[in-house]
Amino acid sequence: MDYVLTSHSLCKSYKKFHALSDFSIHIPKGSVYGLIGRNGAGKTTFIRLVCGLQEPTGGVFNLYGEDSGTKGIYSARRRIGAIIESPAIYRNMTAKENLRQQYRALGLPSFDGIDELLELVGLSGTGKKKAGHFSLGMRQRLGIAVALCGNPDFLILDEPMNGLDPQGIIEIRELILKLNREMQVTILISSHILDELSRVATHYGFMDKGTMIKEMSEEELNAVQKKCVRLTVDNITALSVFLEKQNIEYSIVSDTQADVYGEINIAQLITGLFQSGCNVTSMHEKNESLESYFINLVGGEENV
Ligand code: ATP
Repeated sequence: MDYVLTSHSLCKSYKKFHALSDFSIHIPKGSVYGLIGRNGAGKTTFIRLVCGLQEPTGGVFNLYGEDSGTKGIYSARRRIGAIIESPAIYRNMTAKENLRQQYRALGLPSFDGIDELLELVGLSGTGKKKAGHFSLGMRQRLGIAVALCGNPDFLILDEPMNGLDPQGIIEIRELILKLNREMQVTILISSHILDELSRVATHYGFMDKGTMIKEMSEEELNAVQKKCVRLTVDNITALSVFLEKQNIEYSIVSDTQADVYGEINIAQLITGLFQSGCNVTSMHEKNESLESYFINLVGGEENV
């Protein structure tokens, strides 16, 4: 497999605290790689090392064939576009001015391509409006356009969906898929919104306490995720009481939905629920959620 970025025994310590220890990652060329970990797991630390904002205290990473700590890493980094924590944009400038500013900062010889970039991220109609007056979703898309200046073939997005409303999330999702599928950009995304991540990622890295626990492709994940039936019901309490009594494994998704695991006789389940005062209004088979897989993998029930 052809990898854009790998790391071996990568470490980053702050005095005695190990933010990354023995961290290894393998990001295939052409993938959308979802990096998953709880708050403080070390996701941003890893991204900061790759982008050259901090230096490792041990180990090595390799970007486009160049090892960290060598001269070649500087030219390899020019192939990266990144948004780390929040998009690097000027709020007192329009979208176009922001891109021109980035072109100047990168020393690009002309402003060619700016209109296409604005079109790509859906901001070509914003005219004289300053970025400070944009919605959060528009600012995030402008941040992606800024990161795409200079035509990088590897895009790093740290928490790109944070704080966005549902429409904003859909727009970023579509942009990510377009960049990856139509423009062959490899994308590393760290995100807490696992349900959303599972709609775009082709590969996953599950990390905890500064270490990579497991890496897998979407296909490998699908194969090991438990199958379940998602039920929508009119009485979630009655469902819960019934499944407890029957000793059937389940998890509550919302006040009208639950996932039921294991080999179950659907007809018997629906009849039993009905007799217990719970009507099933819809049902479909699916894989267990990415969040539930992650929690089972690393243990505990804290937020991701
Ligand atoms: P989040 O999702 O909350 O951003 P994260 O996985 O990105 O979490 P990091 O920001 O990489 O986590 O932080 C990893 C750990 O390193 C945290 O415990 C954090 O407090 C610690 N840390 C980060 N930067 C520093 C620093 N400059 N000095 C000391 N500790 C730090």
